[in-house]
Amino acid sequence: TTPLMTTSLLGEDEGEGSLRPKRLTEYIGQEKAKENLSVFIDAAKMRQEPLDHVLLHGPPGLGKTTLSGIIANEMGVHIRITSGPAIEKPGDLAALLTNLNENDILFVDEIHRLNRSVEEILYPAMEDFAIDIIIGKGPSANSIRLDLPRFTLIGATTRAGQLSAPLRDRFGVMLRLELYTPEELGQIVTRSAGILGVPIEAAGAAEIARRARGTPRIANRLLRRVRDFAQVRAGGVITQGVADQALTALEVDQLGLDAVDRRMLRSIIAHYAGGPVGLETLAATVGEEAVTLEDVYEPYLMQMGFLTRTPRGRCVTRLAYEHLGLPFHGQEQL
Ligand code: ADP
Repeated sequence: TTPLMTTSLLGEDEGEGSLRPKRLTEYIGQEKAKENLSVFIDAAKMRQEPLDHVLLHGPPGLGKTTLSGIIANEMGVHIRITSGPAIEKPGDLAALLTNLNENDILFVDEIHRLNRSVEEILYPAMEDFAIDIIIGKGPSANSIRLDLPRFTLIGATTRAGQLSAPLRDRFGVMLRLELYTPEELGQIVTRSAGILGVPIEAAGAAEIARRARGTPRIANRLLRRVRDFAQVRAGGVITQGVADQALTALEVDQLGLDAVDRRMLRSIIAHYAGGPVGLETLAATVGEEAVTLEDVYEPYLMQMGFLTRTPRGRCVTRLAYEHLGLPFHGQEQL
């Protein structure tokens, strides 16, 4: 079975590229980040300089790659896309950097996963637009400094806290992307439906949006699934009724929770009387990795008010009991 509600990129998301907005004005939501960025972009263009290095952080599927492409477009420069784990050796990074043109953007996804020796090459590259290359071995080894074109590094990470301090300090701009509101996701679904040529009613878009856990990637994926359903069973138009039937058939609940969300909440209730329980303990009980719970599941559950983080651990709220249809005894732990 495909994990329909995962924020990670799936094979079925392949058409995602065509749904990517190309300009800042087409990019829905994230008002604070957009406002800051447009000032920085205008200033850099006026000075004819590359944009300061940018760190984008926030849960997967919220539009970090999309936003980087938009920045390149708005700056009128090229973008090279790579990821932390893909850059294995210092030489790999040196090759990427020396092939950039003046003012170009290097986008490094999952930048917290760069290995140490690669990261060290990045410091002088970011600061002085130069890298030091060691030639030869032993006592006759020599270091030569190689100048690079002035470029912009855009790093993306699920959590800024996972980055080493020296790397974090070298970013001039840090932008946090937030989960989208159902209204914003409704606009994204409507826009995507327009591009895909699928007729959709406003209430149909709202139904998909409400169940997409704050994440554009999931909203677009659910839209494609509902489209198939509408074509086969309902004459092609996505109404609220069709969206509801399709998503219920796909086991996406009324508020977009999936099986892992429900398992997580239920185990805190069943085994820890609603909490508090430490993250690692909870991860072991649920059978998921702690980082996955923290980066992928918790942000949405907290936004929905189903889960709280306390100094002593995670707690389930009264609202979550109600959503799961379980009786709530006891006192809410806040
Ligand atoms: P990330 O890099 O954060 O994992 P992506 O940039 O790949 O996320 O975004 C996933 C998909 O969601 C994109 O293909 C795009 O179609 C859509 N998307 C993301 N953010 C927006 C937005 N603000 N407006 C419209 N569509 C968006």
